[in-house]
Amino acid sequence: MYDVIVVGAGPGGAAAAAFMARDGLKVLLLDKDTFPRDKICGDAIGGKCAGPLERLGLFPAMQAVEQVGSWGVTFSGPYGDKVSIPFTKNTERIIPPGFICAREVFDQLVFEKAVEAGADVWTEAAAEGLLLEGKKVVGVRVKREGEVQDIHAPLVVGADGAYSVVVRDLGITQLDEQHYCAGLRAYYHGITGFRTDNYIELHYVDDIIPGYFWMFPMANGGANVGLGMLSAAVKKNNVKLKALLDQCVAHPRFRHRFAGAERRGPVKGWGLPLGSKPRPMAGDGWMLVGDAASLVDPFTGEGIGNAMVSGEQAARWAAKAHAAGDFSAAFLHTYETEVLGLIKDELRLSYMLQKLGNWKWLLNTVIRKASRSDELADTISCMFDDLGERRRLLNPAFYLRVLAA
Ligand SMILES: Cc1cc2nc3c(=O)[nH]c(=O)nc-3n(C[C@H](O)[C@H](O)[C@H](O)COP(=O)(O)OP(=O)(O)OC[C@H]3O[C@@H](n4cnc5c(N)ncnc54)[C@H](O)[C@@H]3O)c2cc1C
Repeated sequence: MYDVIVVGAGPGGAAAAAFMARDGLKVLLLDKDTFPRDKICGDAIGGKCAGPLERLGLFPAMQAVEQVGSWGVTFSGPYGDKVSIPFTKNTERIIPPGFICAREVFDQLVFEKAVEAGADVWTEAAAEGLLLEGKKVVGVRVKREGEVQDIHAPLVVGADGAYSVVVRDLGITQLDEQHYCAGLRAYYHGITGFRTDNYIELHYVDDIIPGYFWMFPMANGGANVGLGMLSAAVKKNNVKLKALLDQCVAHPRFRHRFAGAERRGPVKGWGLPLGSKPRPMAGDGWMLVGDAASLVDPFTGEGIGNAMVSGEQAARWAAKAHAAGDFSAAFLHTYETEVLGLIKDELRLSYMLQKLGNWKWLLNTVIRKASRSDELADTISCMFDDLGERRRLLNPAFYLRVLAA
């Protein structure tokens, strides 16, 4: 009998289990894969991860593994204009605002933290479904080494990602194409033209809007290259994503940079459940975390940060529920309120930006003007650090000023 079962040991589940075990709860963390394992991703570990990473004491380990620190982002618009913007104006800063680190490496760090904190960890243990008493979740049916076992706990945390079995068994709709993105990733070696301070690159290319083509520099001459596009648009335009990725690599804007490069491994795809429509996050005996709760940023496609932030909050609420002996939907509902309190403004803003991104000329004009105006580039730079500043992107007056500049 465990206090909590966490299904899925990605950054959301492993962070949740680490915080829970550290709080003295008896936790079972289970994952269908064996670790270290890959996760199809852009591998950009954004600023949102910094808080949970620090509280888990993971910064020193993070600095020691194979990764690069990233200090900013280069955008290019559909008509080819380009601007590079630092993530922060703080020139004294030592720890980079972001990292690019293969998920096989990054997830292992968080996973090991859960082990070190004292969680029981089962790998190659697939949750087959939830154990229910009426609507109350009372445990998980797990298949491990060919055997099926029923494991009971008063609380189950679903952190099993975009194709969550927990979500399926709760009867929550998994896929709304207006709030879901399809993503492809490939690893390359030898792409030229990256900045030495490892700016990530987001390129808006005609056929991928709403969405973008990315090139992220990695350690030792590697790069993560991919694209993400709203599923509704993929379906409506019958887009073949792999062909589109080849098209981007061969695009006149980028092909010279791939001239001496080699692709390593296959192109792989995975879904991104967007936070423009988060799922219910708690009920009788259960909570959801990360992609299972549909928390991916609808503009940037980042989901690791929100997975870790929700994982940390889930741990707080697991401890509170145990102290109160109350695992009811009414009690756990505050978990959802608190997570949304932390991220809902940002998600709403990102959704509006995703919509604005459909206006190609506007997107290109902002990028072009920012490339010519230090003041505008500075304003956008502050927006990475400051949500209040970012809100200005929703104000029509901001665009009128840009157009008039
Ligand atoms: C192409 C692409 C690019 C992306 N790029 C970025 C990026 O650059 N930066 C960023 O921040 N985010 C990015 N994301 C989003 C990011 O990958 C996710 O938001 C993040 O992985 C969510 O973490 P998680 O812990 O919720 O789920 P996951 O990382 O998906 O972990 C879920 C875990 O659950 C396990 N699991 C699944 N089913 C079961 C089961 N039945 N039983 C037991 N275990 C199970 C899986 O094995 C897995 O280990 C990208 C996504 C895609 C698809």
